[in-house]
Amino acid sequence: MAGKKQVRTAFRATVFRRDRYHCAACGKPGRDRQGGDAHRAFHPGTPDDQLVPLDAHHITDRNQMPGGGYVLENGIALCDDGCHRLAEVFHQTGTAHPGFAPDDLYARVDSSFEAARHASESLE
Ligand SMILES: [Zn+2]
Repeated sequence: MAGKKQVRTAFRATVFRRDRYHCAACGKPGRDRQGGDAHRAFHPGTPDDQLVPLDAHHITDRNQMPGGGYVLENGIALCDDGCHRLAEVFHQTGTAHPGFAPDDLYARVDSSFEAARHASESLE
């Protein structure tokens, strides 16, 4: 079984690759906020300072998913520039910012709560 750190690293990498290193909400091209150069293949020739930092957001909070929900089906690439903050409003207050409810985010990445929960069961 993979260690926690490997699971988290794989989560970020697979989410960013699927979303092609773009914010899945506003569409800005980006790079992993934590570093690395895997984004370069998706934005050839674009200097890093023209890319937004991206976070791999848990659509359903990690405390409400088996194994922390570190699966592609529960992740979405969001820019640190604003979209991630808007998505966190739901986790902080229980009321979603319009367009940033979990179901809205799942729809953007062709996933669902059920798909995320099912995939997360393999983490336990
Ligand atoms: Zn964004």
